[in-house]
Amino acid sequence: MSTRVPLSRDFVNGDVSFWYRSLGLPPAGEPLGGDRDADVAIVGAGYTGLWTAYYLKKADPGLRVVVLEKEFAGYGASGRNGGWLVGELAGTPERYARTHGVDAAKRLQRVMFEAIDEVVSVAEKEGVDADIVKGGVTTVATNAAQDRRLRELLAHERHWGWTEEDVRLLDPAEREGRLRVDGAVSAIWSPHCARIQPAKLARGLARTVRDLGVEIFERTPVTEIAPREARTPYGTVRAEYVIRATEGFTAGLRQYHRAWLPMNSSMIVTEPLGDLWDAIGWEGCELLGDMAHYYMYAQRTADGRIAFGGRGKPYLYGSRVDDRGHTHTWTIEALWELLTGMFPAVRASRVAHAWSGVLGVPRDWCATVHVDHATGVGWAGGYTGHGVTTTNLAGRTLRDLILREDTELASLPWVGRRVRGWEVEPLRWIGVHAMYDLYRRADAREKAGLDRTSVLARVADSITGR
Ligand SMILES: Cc1cc2nc3c(=O)[nH]c(=O)nc-3n(C[C@H](O)[C@H](O)[C@H](O)COP(=O)(O)OP(=O)(O)OC[C@H]3O[C@@H](n4cnc5c(N)ncnc54)[C@H](O)[C@@H]3O)c2cc1C
Repeated sequence: MSTRVPLSRDFVNGDVSFWYRSLGLPPAGEPLGGDRDADVAIVGAGYTGLWTAYYLKKADPGLRVVVLEKEFAGYGASGRNGGWLVGELAGTPERYARTHGVDAAKRLQRVMFEAIDEVVSVAEKEGVDADIVKGGVTTVATNAAQDRRLRELLAHERHWGWTEEDVRLLDPAEREGRLRVDGAVSAIWSPHCARIQPAKLARGLARTVRDLGVEIFERTPVTEIAPREARTPYGTVRAEYVIRATEGFTAGLRQYHRAWLPMNSSMIVTEPLGDLWDAIGWEGCELLGDMAHYYMYAQRTADGRIAFGGRGKPYLYGSRVDDRGHTHTWTIEALWELLTGMFPAVRASRVAHAWSGVLGVPRDWCATVHVDHATGVGWAGGYTGHGVTTTNLAGRTLRDLILREDTELASLPWVGRRVRGWEVEPLRWIGVHAMYDLYRRADAREKAGLDRTSVLARVADSITGR
């Protein structure tokens, strides 16, 4: 590959993700061996499917829970993400308040914050070592327009009742003491975030649910979900409930082709930075994001690298999915440029791995969880890049809905959300590409000195209803 980016001698592009490099990709698992009956069949063994299986088995160990996975457990976004176990929910609170009122939207946010601690505590209890550090999240602004947006965001949080305990502006000394981002103008910090090693969490969850008696059939693609049935080339699982937990891959199921748009996100990771950390700081291992429209997200890994992500090629025509995570040269270059712009010291390092994955985006950019008791079909997803924590909430909520428990979780405003599908092609492709092109140009204008949010970004928001 020819790129202007320094690459490690053992650089890898794709191969699912860097997170599997030290763990190794798992050996080929057992596929489904014919028809069978179950109480609950779950399609997809990412965090959504695994958390749902976990909480169902914990609630009722006698339940027969079967998971059908087209590759291996943790193959999707759950084994590739940026490792932000974050309290942020897809969409704005205003959207959830529109259907359920302000108090319900606030309740949803509160249970999201609590879900972070739930994941940390289950991991501890079940012996899942996922390199978890709850150091919070710092969001930086690197120009005047971003600074203005950051302050508006803070005011918005206060308006929704979140206090200094939940999010606060950092003074320059504290900001620099935490981590030194070149050109930072301002920053906010929130405690509601923990760093994880994503594949370790996925693998640990898969092991835990297997120990609880859940059967996970791998290399088993579900071709159709029907009332009380999940059909595969190797047999049909008949179950009282069939849960779709396929998130960014959902468009691959013909009947749900336009439900959620598969959006790509790409990452690079450096070599271990050694002494270079002296110039950067980042000892608290908080997660790092920015206020750009084409935003970045990063973590300091347990082995002392920076894992850095952002949007690459956002969307492939016809909702195709680039399965094993191969990443385009220009995406690697763009991420490297952004990373070394923020941390010039990193220029002395190299890129060790690049990969991509897909996440699911509903037409209203808000997540949903739902069970239809008439057909037994349920689902959760549409997390729009905020799924690491939300999947845990989804798992507990699906448990309550399936067991028909009348709980607080079962009445939260994201339960049973109805939203229309995405447009047919080529409108879908044109809309998404126009949106990201406008965001890129808005970021460039703001970087060049515009002191307020570029009108191009507002046009972009209105195109896709973000
Ligand atoms: C690069 C990247 C970075 C991200 N960073 C963050 C982050 O830092 N924080 C955050 O909160 N969120 C992040 N996200 C989003 C987050 O990872 C996802 O929202 C979350 O992992 C979704 O989990 P899931 O189980 O619903 O889906 P997935 O993990 O994608 O699992 C779906 C599973 O279903 C399987 N499957 C698909 N179709 C079929 C079928 N027909 N039959 C059988 N099995 C099927 C797939 O193989 C896959 O294993 C990121 C996503 C990406 C791609």
